[in-house]
Amino acid sequence: MDKVLETIAISKIYKNGASTVKAVDNSSFWFSKGEFIALVGPSGSGKTTMLALLAGLLRPTEGNIFIDGIDLVNLSDSERTLFRRQKIGFTFQANNLVPYLTALENVELMLRLNLQFNPQTAAHAKDLLIRLGLEEHLYHFPSQLSGGGQQRVAIARALIHNPTLVLADEPTAALDTERAYQVVEIFSSLIHEQNRTGIMVTHDLRMVEFADRVINMRDGKIVRIISSRDEINQLARIGRQENENN
Ligand code: ADP
Ligand code: MG
Repeated sequence: MDKVLETIAISKIYKNGASTVKAVDNSSFWFSKGEFIALVGPSGSGKTTMLALLAGLLRPTEGNIFIDGIDLVNLSDSERTLFRRQKIGFTFQANNLVPYLTALENVELMLRLNLQFNPQTAAHAKDLLIRLGLEEHLYHFPSQLSGGGQQRVAIARALIHNPTLVLADEPTAALDTERAYQVVEIFSSLIHEQNRTGIMVTHDLRMVEFADRVINMRDGKIVRIISSRDEINQLARIGRQENENN
């Protein structure tokens, strides 16, 4: 198997004065190319911390994280920044779009930062935004978009530079049901078509339908990894039932 990402016994402890929180507790796993993974678990179980560790935004207290065979933990800060920019695409809940750039320019910025900007990639940026339903908003600023619109721009920005690993924290949080399905479906097909690896954190169990594997976290630990299609579909069904009852 082609391991794109591998963690070895990673832990992350937050220290605030006298109090400490073990947000990620001794987790080991690996992902291969072309996989789309959903990371689920209750609020506070460590999902965002896990994603930030995999993105190289946080350093684990213990353990190692290999991406394409490179150990993130042993890179210097500047090496890690460069590595992250080239190899990793991510969208976190605060989407960090640049307010004075249009939707299209926000996506193009990622290409410029990676010295990949040319007429062909610029056309891809446009196509990707259109595929995400933003045809009418290409030249709008983030403040002129809904929360869901901003989230979709952030997803385009996370994918445009052909990263090895794409990480998304609650990418559907601000979307209505129809749009959420649409966005996750596009997200998962892009991962599959382009043979990348995608990890999506979601509290919406319905969205696991598009995942190849589901990782369930609790109290910082990975309590289950589900790969059976039947079990994944059953989880999605539970998600739909929960949603109907709300
Ligand atoms: P999730 O995304 O699953 O809700 P988080 O990774 O945000 O979980 O948080 C995991 C645990 O770590 C929680 O107990 C949370 O309160 C704590 N935590 C998260 N970020 C910090 C931080 N910067 N400082 C201290 N504790 C934190
Ligand atoms: Mg979170």
